[in-house]
Amino acid sequence: MRPAAFLDRDGTLIGDSGFVADAATVRLLPGVEHALGEWHRAGYALIVVTNQSGIARGLITWPQYHAVAARIDALLGAAGLWLDATYVCPHWPEVTGPCDCRKPGLALYRQAAAERGLDLSRSVWVGDRVRDVAPSRAFGGQGFLIGASTEDDEGFPRVGDLPAAAALSIAGARSTPPPAGR
Ligand SMILES: [Mg+2]
Ligand SMILES: [Zn+2]
Repeated sequence: MRPAAFLDRDGTLIGDSGFVADAATVRLLPGVEHALGEWHRAGYALIVVTNQSGIARGLITWPQYHAVAARIDALLGAAGLWLDATYVCPHWPEVTGPCDCRKPGLALYRQAAAERGLDLSRSVWVGDRVRDVAPSRAFGGQGFLIGASTEDDEGFPRVGDLPAAAALSIAGARSTPPPAGR
């Protein structure tokens, strides 16, 4: 089983403009292609997990969501890269009730692991919010916050950008001996 890099979308791969509805405005953040290339070469599956409550709130349509996803695929494809999978929570608790898939919920990671054969304990979680990386504590992987935030980091390391998270996570995985019995 291979590890995954579980990546937040808005504010991590692309700019976070609130609710991203217009694919034409989508740009990859600086260093994204480099970071994803590093993880890919190190054997990580590239998995996006994204909360898109704008869908439940009626602020984004599914066609708009899919157009943004296709735009990201095209931008990464131009760099010779691809995402192994994208998982989305379209819910908003006040509209659709509670769900297990909205981050920091664990359902989408469990689904990804089952569908893709991923080793969650060797995986890395990266995002600009604590909810993006908190699942790492449940599964035993690493978590890195990127960018700047005013929220409490709750003990997670915050690094400058996605390439820094890639370098640190790959170095950390190499320096960690495998658990006994493996
Ligand atoms: Mg984000
Ligand atoms: Zn959900």
